[in-house]
Amino acid sequence: MGKSPEKKCADCGKSVHVRKRECSCGFVFPYKERKKKVVEDYNPHDIDYVYNNWKKVPPRTRNAKCGTCRTKMKGGMLGWYSSFTDGDKYWWCDKCLKDFKDEKYYSLCNKDIQNS
Ligand SMILES: [Zn+2]
Ligand SMILES: [Zn+2]
Repeated sequence: MGKSPEKKCADCGKSVHVRKRECSCGFVFPYKERKKKVVEDYNPHDIDYVYNNWKKVPPRTRNAKCGTCRTKMKGGMLGWYSSFTDGDKYWWCDKCLKDFKDEKYYSLCNKDIQNS
């Protein structure tokens, strides 16, 4: 099976599971931070998360695929979305990340049901 999504600790460089908010070294990952940093000299260590949570796939999303199973992520689907300050974006489908379904996921689900 594919491995779980991971992110790198900006402090010690260790790979930490995408759902962890803190590295074992004590580094706290920027979480749901929307502000973009102005980076003058490109430095891969400066890359931060812009978004890292469940999200509904926007209606006109194209070429988005689950990072694990390559399922096409179509508009309206729920997926785990990670975007970075350098413009990289990743989706994971809810099947691959079923172990990470949380209140946020279910609240997005419920909104769906109420709207239809
Ligand atoms: Zn660390
Ligand atoms: Zn998948």
